[in-house]
Amino acid sequence: MMDVMAVFTITHRARHAAARTGTLQTPHGDIYTPNFMPVATRGVFHGMELADARECGAEILMCNTHHLNRTYGVQAIAEAGGLHTFIDWHHPLATDSGGFQVFSLGWGMVHGVGKVAGGINARPVAETTLALAQATIDDNGVIFSDGRELVRLTPEIAVQWQEKIGADIIFAFDECTSPLHNEAYNRKAMHRTHDWARRCIAARTRHDQLMFGIVQGGTFEALRKESATIIGAMSFEGFGIGGSFGQHAMVETLDWVMPSLPDERPKHLLGIGWVQDILLAVDRGVDLFDCVEPIRRARHQHVLTPTQYLDIVPLSRRQGDGPLVNDCDCSSCQLLSATDIKLWCKAKDRRGSRALAIHNTRMMMRLMEHIRTAITEDRWSDYLQERLSRIETQRPSIVG
Ligand SMILES: [Zn+2]
Repeated sequence: MMDVMAVFTITHRARHAAARTGTLQTPHGDIYTPNFMPVATRGVFHGMELADARECGAEILMCNTHHLNRTYGVQAIAEAGGLHTFIDWHHPLATDSGGFQVFSLGWGMVHGVGKVAGGINARPVAETTLALAQATIDDNGVIFSDGRELVRLTPEIAVQWQEKIGADIIFAFDECTSPLHNEAYNRKAMHRTHDWARRCIAARTRHDQLMFGIVQGGTFEALRKESATIIGAMSFEGFGIGGSFGQHAMVETLDWVMPSLPDERPKHLLGIGWVQDILLAVDRGVDLFDCVEPIRRARHQHVLTPTQYLDIVPLSRRQGDGPLVNDCDCSSCQLLSATDIKLWCKAKDRRGSRALAIHNTRMMMRLMEHIRTAITEDRWSDYLQERLSRIETQRPSIVG
């Protein structure tokens, strides 16, 4: 284990909340927290270049171990000198463990739910058949069938792959349950996740990477607290808070787990990127976020404004020859009008989705900059209330 105090330094704390700023040192540079990681699943973005993300202010990207392996092969990435060289991004990188695919190809598929579930009129279910799914789970790990071949992933393999890929932050292998799972199944999955966490620590051979352990426990207070206590006592350099959250469960979950995790180590709320959720999570002490949302929304021609995502067509009617968002400093808003971008989108010109991906990413990075500044300047609570009051709509029930 690395010297925890040396890699993460809390630089400022909000006066009346758990929000804090910090500096996380990695082999490829420092990350200023709270921070947001754009998701480059296979080491690339749909619609924009990695250099575009850097220009938007991205300090670290999240990539997906399962998809990297499926697309290129872990060995090919290792032989190229690791992921930084392979994708030509010489700044911090994170990889997930592949554990989320256990969920999305397994229970998520059976239960028809994504990362954020809501409006589901289904009763909690006991353990049922996984016959419909592409992943099967047992105590030793998971077997994926991706239509081409069977892929076995165990905690040891997840660590070995992530060490070969060579990201700066890696995650312990875990099982993410569905919001429709009952308490008994969640308890079983949680114990499995704890066992896998111990096996991941034991399997480490590289000590220049930061490994984050993941807290699970579903929507059950006792399980979440137990998971945070047990994972929090392990020698991880940071912690991920995982799960597929019901619409109001995220804040509740954070209130359960954050007090049981070591204050001085960084916390990452996995897969959450809705502005309102980020604000509420930072208020509870979360330091890091990742989400596909800003770039995926760009592909659907949705523009992130300070208040909500809006379709480019009505937005361009309102903004005309002006920029997408009046005070945005992104290159799209500096150089192009909302109408220009709408016309590109209408013509299915790739420049349209690129302009929107850049804008949406910059809006997220600027949100994080404003959050850090508000905490540092001791006006976090005022900033939080002001931002929340401007958000017009609730997040959609399912964001993926
Ligand atoms: Zn912009």
